[in-house]
Amino acid sequence: MRVLITGVAGFIGSHLADRFLADGHEVVGMDNFITGDVANIAHIRNPRFSFVQYDVTNYIYVEGPLDAILHFASPASPIDYLEFPIPTLKVGSLGTHKALGLAKAKGAVFLLASTSEVYGDPLVHPQTEDYWGNVNPIGPRGVYDEAKRFAEALTMAYHRSHGVPTRIVRIFNTYGPRMRVRDGRAVPNFIAQALRNEEVTVYGDGSQTRSFCYVTDLVDGIARLLASDSISPVNIGNPSEMSVLSMAETIIRATGSRSRVVFRPLPMDDPKVRQPDISKARSVLGWEPRVGLEEGLKETIGYFRAKLGIPAAR
Ligand code: UDP
Repeated sequence: MRVLITGVAGFIGSHLADRFLADGHEVVGMDNFITGDVANIAHIRNPRFSFVQYDVTNYIYVEGPLDAILHFASPASPIDYLEFPIPTLKVGSLGTHKALGLAKAKGAVFLLASTSEVYGDPLVHPQTEDYWGNVNPIGPRGVYDEAKRFAEALTMAYHRSHGVPTRIVRIFNTYGPRMRVRDGRAVPNFIAQALRNEEVTVYGDGSQTRSFCYVTDLVDGIARLLASDSISPVNIGNPSEMSVLSMAETIIRATGSRSRVVFRPLPMDDPKVRQPDISKARSVLGWEPRVGLEEGLKETIGYFRAKLGIPAAR
């Protein structure tokens, strides 16, 4: 296949590029580096990989055939939506429109990176794909949540009106190497703080829950979804749920850190619980996560040590 990945220099986009190249495909990558980092793709020395620096909210031109488009371009950390609210809205709406138009023109399969944020602060737990969500459209997270909800609606409209073969993955919290040190999300914050023996900042009382999936598991689910014929959205995430405080404590232990936890105000509209129901991924894709928290954290901590220049504890 010849595959276009938008947001290829991001955390997930770069792992997708690695996976599709390893599977023998040709990858065209695009990124405007608003939150992506060239360092995430600098290791790729494959003649089947090409890169175009581009903002996909504008008309997208790609020469030659495309078999699949994986639309992963978007700021994705809560601090990024606060810093870039309008680009977040634009890439989810205009960018999705351009990428769908390209899929239609090329006869390509279109896969949308959607999110557990479409469920908002959920009133159904764990979240099944048929839950419509509880989102505040005008809150600070609304720019991301509503852009992704619009993107899902547009994707379904291109499927229904134009017959574009579409897939929608609802991605739950994911972690792994290539998250940015200053990403702002819980796992990279906690690891960087713990490795530097700084205070580990837990927002609220830390009783809110999340369910963390290791990136290679996520990428495997996405590859399976692309190869399936599932038009309706599929949750991909690790259902093992934990409190944010317990994640902070786990990371302090795993890094052998002298850090202590400090409590900071809970951001507005921060979901109180989150856990994917992955029955559909299990039955339709034959997928479930394989990498446990201990193993996933070990890899991720190793990456952050190297990035921060902090040698492994003896
Ligand atoms: N969080 C925290 N300390 C941090 C960063 C995040 O306690 O330094 C909390 C955040 O308030 C949320 C959870 O960890 O309850 C997960 O946040 P993240 O930004 O990783 O992603 P979210 O799941 O909220 O999109």
